[in-house]
Amino acid sequence: MHEYQLYIDGTFCDAADGRTLDSIDPATEAPWARVARAGRADTERAILAARRAFDEGPWPRMTPADRKRILHQIADGLEARSQEIALVETRDSGGTIRKTSGDMMMAVAQLRYFGDMAERLPLEQELEVPQFPAQSKNWLLREPVGVCGQIIPWNFPLLMAVWKLGPALATGNTLVLKPATDTPCSALELARIIDQSDLPKGVVNVIHGSGAECGELLCTSPLVDKIALTGSTEVGRRVQQLAASTIKRVTLELGGKSANIILDDADLEMAVDGSLFGCFFHQGQACESGTRLLVPERLHDDIVARLVDRTRALTIGDPLDFATAQGPLVSARQQQTVLGYIQSGLEEGAKIAIGGGRPAHLPKGAFVEPTIFTEVKNSMKIAQEEIFGPVLSVIRYRSIDEAIRIANDSIYGLGGAVWSSDKDKAFAVAKQIRTGTVWINDYHLLSPAAPFGGYKQSGIGREFGLEGILAYTEIKHVHVDMVDNRPAKFWYGALFGA
Ligand code: NAD
Repeated sequence: MHEYQLYIDGTFCDAADGRTLDSIDPATEAPWARVARAGRADTERAILAARRAFDEGPWPRMTPADRKRILHQIADGLEARSQEIALVETRDSGGTIRKTSGDMMMAVAQLRYFGDMAERLPLEQELEVPQFPAQSKNWLLREPVGVCGQIIPWNFPLLMAVWKLGPALATGNTLVLKPATDTPCSALELARIIDQSDLPKGVVNVIHGSGAECGELLCTSPLVDKIALTGSTEVGRRVQQLAASTIKRVTLELGGKSANIILDDADLEMAVDGSLFGCFFHQGQACESGTRLLVPERLHDDIVARLVDRTRALTIGDPLDFATAQGPLVSARQQQTVLGYIQSGLEEGAKIAIGGGRPAHLPKGAFVEPTIFTEVKNSMKIAQEEIFGPVLSVIRYRSIDEAIRIANDSIYGLGGAVWSSDKDKAFAVAKQIRTGTVWINDYHLLSPAAPFGGYKQSGIGREFGLEGILAYTEIKHVHVDMVDNRPAKFWYGALFGA
């Protein structure tokens, strides 16, 4: 059994009340790690440590070059242990070793990107302002927001930790990171790497505990300046309400129900494989997954036959085996949720083209077969709600306008894709889709240089890109009056008369 402690104020420690939680390997259903479980007292201590590190410590006052050096040091530490941490994450989350190994490489590259950005940010700029009523110089300063509460989900545990911690550190903030209760271990491994780096104590604190207890305290504490959540839209609503009590800055990356549109001139072999990747990657547990596949009426039967054929080629099983394409879902609870959605699709009249249950050869573990529904109407629950499992809904359309209307008929606005051999035509469609990211002839690929986030109820703000990093800064305007003659000051006449 692996053992993990909380990381508070530069020290690994047990929870104040000694509680622990076992992490269950969803492929075997066996506990594999025992993790200290934070309560209110631990969360308060972590917040205080981050507050002290911000108000009194050297980190917010260090040069961008120093911040860059330390972020690179953490990236190097992660790279050196990436194989080992990929294994930890596979056991914790059920993500295949193919996927978690890829995540480690991306996490290292992203940490280096955030480190480099620390030096490239426009932290001090002179502003052009109209010189009226008097001569002045004006400066725009970007300063760290302060203490950040960072709450992350279970689908990409280490990547989500890096997406939060990278921009916050690049801009000089301090933070308390709270991983999801199902998947705390890779974030705590990252804490071990951070502990070996030159990052001052208390800048990063990692507490594993429930949303209701630790998450809500982060959202309401007057000592926390910003909350960044990646999670469900339901939790996003709650977090926004709680954060309102102290007017915290809030960034929300929430759920999605993205449309993936195949146009009638698409290369069907590529579009079909790409659409399966768009939906079934990581067993459908990605927020931007293309879960609604919109296909032209005249190609419907051909596309469905190809989808079924290619789905048969996906291997489901042991996530630790590099040959496996589909592992288990994160937990037995998530498996039940997904099977419940499949049942609701059947009850509303959709038809199963392939899949629909737990794989017969895997009686143990939180597995669900990749499932494709046809005869789906966009009003059905399976087309409107985020399932977060390997369930693809195929929906027919008769014109491009109808496809765009269906794509936009959702409370969400996170991602989506268009497949076509005419990139200009696809671009014109992409412009009409109300989501934060649209891929053309591709899916899921994200760059730390490109902002990522949602329209509508998929969130507020962006991560990645300049926008995502500057979201961890406050803007300060410094006005320097250049008039040294007292009676000539603009306010002199207002006080004493001309
Ligand atoms: P979740 O909303 O249940 O939990 C997310 C985090 O919020 C967890 O750490 C949880 O402990 C915490 N939390 C729960 N209740 C809370 C509360 N009342 N106050 C404060 N914190 C609370 O989500 P999940 O099931 O872990 O992850 C899946 C969800 O995350 C999906 O909806 C998915 O779309 C979304 N997601 C979004 C993105 C994105 O970038 N938009 C990326 C990944 C996942």
